[in-house]
Amino acid sequence: MVASTSSKDTSERDQDRWPLKPGLHLVATPIGHLGDLSPRALETLKIADLVVCEDSRVTGKLLRLHGIERSLLPYHEHNAARMRPRILDQLATGARVALTSDAGTPLVSDPGYKLVRDVIEAGHEVLAVPGPSAALAALVISGLPTDQFFFGGFLPSKASARRRVIGELSAVPATLIWFESGKRLAATLDDLATGLGARQAAVARELTKAFEEVRRGTLDDLASVYADEDVPRGEIVIVVGPRDAVDVWDDAAVDEALRDALKTMTPSAAAAAVATKTGRARRELYRRGLALREDV
Ligand code: SAM
Repeated sequence: MVASTSSKDTSERDQDRWPLKPGLHLVATPIGHLGDLSPRALETLKIADLVVCEDSRVTGKLLRLHGIERSLLPYHEHNAARMRPRILDQLATGARVALTSDAGTPLVSDPGYKLVRDVIEAGHEVLAVPGPSAALAALVISGLPTDQFFFGGFLPSKASARRRVIGELSAVPATLIWFESGKRLAATLDDLATGLGARQAAVARELTKAFEEVRRGTLDDLASVYADEDVPRGEIVIVVGPRDAVDVWDDAAVDEALRDALKTMTPSAAAAAVATKTGRARRELYRRGLALREDV
C-alpha cells in the first residue's frame, strides 16, 4: 500500500532531510519534461531567501505550475556585472540563494560562472542541486562511448572559425558533444564529416519532449540526411564518437594507404577514400597526401 501525505507534510519532511544551508545553490530545472524537476530542486526554489534566474518569465511560469508565487531576481549577460555585488551582499548576510537558468543545469552554456567564481572568492558555499542537462542526456542515449567525453558548448557560427575549432578537437580521444541550432545543423554536420572523418555520431532533438528524436549513423550519412531535409525544429545536441580506428591505423599504415590510393586517385579523392577506411579526418589526409605526393 502506498501511504499518501499532504504537500505540507512533504514540505516539512523535506526540510528536515535537506535543511537549506546558507550559500549559493545551483538548481537544475527540466529541459522539456516537467516531471524532471526534482523534489529537492522544487523545495530549494520554494524556501530560498532569494531566487536568481536567467529569465523571470520562464522560471516564474515553472514555479506557478507548482503553486509557488514569489519574486525573482533576473541574472543574465546584460545585467550580470550589476547584479553580482547585490547577490554577494545577500550571501554576506547568511542568505540562501538559489540560481536557475531557463532550462537544464545553470552555468552549462548558461549564465552563472562568474557569479560562482566570485562567491567562492568571497568565502561562501556553493552547492549543487543536480538534475537535467541536455549534454548528458544526449550522451547517454547516443550509443557512443561514455567513458571519456568532451563537451564543446556551441561551435562558432562563422564557418571558418567552426572549421578551425573542429580541426583543433579532432585529436581529442573522447566522445565529443556540442549544442547546435536547427538552422546550422546541416552545415555543422558537413564540417564535422570533413574535419573528423568517418565517425559514428548521433543527433538528439527535443529530448524529454513530445517530439523527441534521435538519429544515429556516420557523420557523412547524417550530414546528407539533414542536407536533404527542411530545417529541423527544436533544440539539438550533436554527439560524435571517438576515432575508433586509432590503434589499427597508426601513422605509417595511414601513409601506406594514402600512397596506394594516390596511385589511381586525385589527392582529394584519396583523402576521402582513406578517411572512410581509417576514420582519420579528410582535411588532415588531404594535406598529408599532398606532402607524400611531393616525396615520390
Ligand atoms: N544549461 C542547459 C542544459 O544544461 O541543458 C543548456 C542551455 S543551452 C543555452 C541550450 C541548448 O541546449 C539548446 O540550444 C540545445 O542545443 C540544448 N538543449 C536544451 N534542451 C534540449 C532538449 N530538450 N533537447 C535537445 N537539446 C537541448
